[in-house]
Amino acid sequence: MQSVDIVVPCFNEASGIESFYAETRKVLDTIDGCIFHFIFINDGSSDKTPDILARFAKINSDSDYISLSRNFGKEAAIYAGLKFSTGDCVIVMDADLQHPPDLIPEMIAGIREGYDSCAAKRISRTGETFFRSGLSRAFYRISNKMTDVSLAEGVVDYRIMKRSVVDAVLSLGEVQRFSKGLFAWVGFDTKWIPYDNITRETGKSKWNYRNLFKYAMDGITSFSVLPLRLVTAMGFFISVIAFVYIIITLIKTLITGIDVPGYVTTLSAVLFLGGIVEISIGIIGEYIGHIYMEAKKRPIFIIKGTSLKKGGSDTNE
Ligand code: UDP
Ligand code: MG
Repeated sequence: MQSVDIVVPCFNEASGIESFYAETRKVLDTIDGCIFHFIFINDGSSDKTPDILARFAKINSDSDYISLSRNFGKEAAIYAGLKFSTGDCVIVMDADLQHPPDLIPEMIAGIREGYDSCAAKRISRTGETFFRSGLSRAFYRISNKMTDVSLAEGVVDYRIMKRSVVDAVLSLGEVQRFSKGLFAWVGFDTKWIPYDNITRETGKSKWNYRNLFKYAMDGITSFSVLPLRLVTAMGFFISVIAFVYIIITLIKTLITGIDVPGYVTTLSAVLFLGGIVEISIGIIGEYIGHIYMEAKKRPIFIIKGTSLKKGGSDTNE
């Protein structure tokens, strides 16, 4: 008998969490040889989510919750769930039924075949605007070029992992977590399960373009220093051009004397270099920001309450 924990981050999911539980439970009941246990993480919801989760924990023997002291973000919520999981395997999935529970039997089968993890991969993007799916495709392409870890396009945070993989992910203690990258970084044999995108039925997505941009920047800066190298390379390149230009101008001045016009050249050079310097400082700043946030060593989440027996501590330390 295998024990499987299901970690579900929830932020203002009151409108859909009950149907999520019912639908998922229906699928779990068809699987033999596993004991399932839900760990819901209330990520500082301001709606009725905490009350519903507390009720679940009371009436369903298979449910527990962890309530965080405020909204720490999905990544932190997932980390909290993994930290408190004890099963032989752990499934991570969204609470909005955009991660179809029907894939769970296939995931379990993958583990039984001997894979260390099985991950869902979205093969269509229905319901997303053309602009957003284009941006997201560009992100995967750039990020795969830049980083050592390769993210499969359409990879989502819906997967099952063996305990060894969970422990490996937990051993990466960074505060700014980019789960997709962390799952890829730890390696192990992963089986991919394709599925069609499902649009959200209840509640609404917490993503907007601003935090998607931040997410993409975090993803790249967490896994690669290539942007810094590009800054250095650009510096070298521009220096070489400048040097050649200086020599040419010097020779010209020596031969033909001082030539006052040059306003456009000067202005272009100043503006161009100004732009390059700003971008470079920005890139360096992104990394310093990361170092700053990591250096504080603040806990990744803080717990306000939980129905779990062993959950006595109120931080992740
Ligand atoms: N979520 C969370 N904390 C947040 C934002 C989201 O725990 O700050 C949860 C949310 O409840 C859902 C999952 O993360 O279970 C995915 O969120 P969402 O549906 O907003 O993202 P999308 O599906 O649009 O990527
Ligand atoms: Mg969603």
